[in-house]
Amino acid sequence: MGGTARNKDRELRGIAGYESPYPYLDRLQLKMEERLAHRVPAAGRFCGFCYGRLRESDSECGFCAASIAEAGTVAEIPQDVLRAYKVRQKTESRWVYGGAFAGLIIASLAFVTMVTWGPGPLGHPAAAFAMLIGGGYLLAQLFGPLIGGQAGYRRGARARDAIWARHLAARETPGGNPVAEQDRHPRSPS
Ligand SMILES: [Zn+2]
Repeated sequence: MGGTARNKDRELRGIAGYESPYPYLDRLQLKMEERLAHRVPAAGRFCGFCYGRLRESDSECGFCAASIAEAGTVAEIPQDVLRAYKVRQKTESRWVYGGAFAGLIIASLAFVTMVTWGPGPLGHPAAAFAMLIGGGYLLAQLFGPLIGGQAGYRRGARARDAIWARHLAARETPGGNPVAEQDRHPRSPS
């Protein structure tokens, strides 16, 4: 399951025409979605740079390759970081569902057109109905996962990366810290 989704992500990256400047965010996306869905404990031992979950034996982060001795560890993933992954997830699914819905609308319009104006056998309700079912399926697939998925990936990944860039900037600014950033956005994604 996880492997297929990861492959899907990699394919999408190739065709959607957007390479994240932070490749470890793509590697972490599914892990963070598990965390957002509360399928894994919130507390743990996380990489101090990218917040990937670490194993006891790790001396190097498996996601961003930071040295744990240098990056340190944290016990929880900051909320603004979780929100970044949530934005990416929501944006993509919105585009996939929106696209699939548009495909169904087009098939319905074609159905009405065929029944109303279709010449000869094309105007037969059975032909129009077959088109509605088959065409609806194909168009939903085309506009949903294929076209909507790419657009959603691109937009979602850009939005996520922008939030991450802000997080990095706030973290690296002396005196600025991610907790203060969090307080400015009281809506928690968890
Ligand atoms: Zn890391």
